[in-house]
Amino acid sequence: MTAEDIEGLMMPITSTLSRTSIHAVDFDREPERFKVYTQRDLGAIDALRSLPDSLRFEMQVVASVLPFRVNDYVIRELIDWDRVPEDPIFQLTFPQRGMLSDLHYDRMAMAHRSGMDKQGLKAVADEIRAQLNPHPAGQLELNVPRDENGDPIVGLQHKYRETVLFFPSQGQTCHSYCSFCFRWAQFIGDKSLRMATTEAGKLHDYLRDHQEVTDLLVTGGDPMVMKSRQLKAYLEPLLHPDFSHIRSIRIGTKALTFWPQRFVTDEDADELIEWLHHLTIAGKHVAIMAHYNHAREMGTAIAKAAIGRLRGAGAEIRSQGPLLAHINDDPRAWVDLWQEQVKLGIIPYYMFVERDTGSRHHFEVPLFRAWEIYRDAMRRVSGLGRTARGPSMSALPGKVEVQGVAEIQGEKVFVLRFIQARDPEWVQRPFFAQFDEQATWLDQLKPAFGEKKFFFE
Ligand SMILES: *Cc1c(COP(=O)(O)O)cnc(C)c1O
Ligand code: SF4
Repeated sequence: MTAEDIEGLMMPITSTLSRTSIHAVDFDREPERFKVYTQRDLGAIDALRSLPDSLRFEMQVVASVLPFRVNDYVIRELIDWDRVPEDPIFQLTFPQRGMLSDLHYDRMAMAHRSGMDKQGLKAVADEIRAQLNPHPAGQLELNVPRDENGDPIVGLQHKYRETVLFFPSQGQTCHSYCSFCFRWAQFIGDKSLRMATTEAGKLHDYLRDHQEVTDLLVTGGDPMVMKSRQLKAYLEPLLHPDFSHIRSIRIGTKALTFWPQRFVTDEDADELIEWLHHLTIAGKHVAIMAHYNHAREMGTAIAKAAIGRLRGAGAEIRSQGPLLAHINDDPRAWVDLWQEQVKLGIIPYYMFVERDTGSRHHFEVPLFRAWEIYRDAMRRVSGLGRTARGPSMSALPGKVEVQGVAEIQGEKVFVLRFIQARDPEWVQRPFFAQFDEQATWLDQLKPAFGEKKFFFE
């Protein structure tokens, strides 16, 4: 093949490059208005009108305890209403009866039926919420670093040596809420449970003083709810030579699912894309840590356009998300997810185990089953789709991956390892737990071979 032939082959590709270029978008770019519904507006969602009254009442009851927020795009384009209530995106965003225990559900249902006033309902809700483990894995206290005066730097977490988590205060909400979200406590308006800071200065001081940090992970909520210029104010100073040790800037987001317009048609979308491009040209690795649960989330034209624009700006998109009953607890769902991601240029990164908080019992999948699903799905994708590690539990000592089940000297065991650990010495060290088909979390596992403790305890 001659150079001309190759060029000929390239032509049609370059002519459609606008999808991935920075400025032009071959997308009908009429900006859409962001319209959101919360618990108060459940009655105003037209799509729900055709559902049975009993289902609507259940949703009302659950939504008065757990946070609920969904936008018009999700309702219109992501949910398949012919398949409700089983539809995975409906399960992902709308309140479900099973998200509360029978005891809590009955309590709240009774309160509604008795015609209790708003204040009364709130008191019942608060009481139930307090029992739902609002901050798992010691997040709030344990990992918050301190400044030179010994004062906690609110809004930062530094758990693993090389990565600092930053929770900008303007990014502590999302374009919609996931029904299983472990950060729900941040969304119910209890300020004492909120992890956020307004001070960019403190972030920069901390990073300047910690040369061992290579990665900054901006997270929330969803930092992409912020205006481009707000995000820029936090991140642009990192181009200064004082921060040359910060090699990677990661932004955790579900906006590619819940509001891809953020990257394409929103008023300040171009500013965001141009500025991310600027960061990558200046030598930073920009990684969009995209939260995905289902292939459907990438199915719309606007979602694909958003992915294309981010990639065109030089950002990598890595995907992570939990394995959830009712949403993606079968190998096929993960095969579809990973294959579609590879096709669109997204790198599968983590498969998480749903953590121990809030509505977990509705979504939880035993570790053994999670591993079976992971393995089954892995077997059916090419090497490019096998980059997701998991199933992984984000537990107190670190991220623990279930590597598999083995029989060693007559004992059936789980083989586990730390992907990430509070103590870097623990990373990649295999360890063993007694096999337990029902166990759903690390704290339910017992060491194998008659040992009294795990090595990290
Ligand atoms: C997962 C996680 C990170 C990032 O870990 P990587 O293995 O580098 O992706 C950082 N901090 C916390 C608290 C985490 O849970
Ligand atoms: S996008 Fe993330 S933080 Fe927001 S509701 Fe979903 S899981 Fe929670």
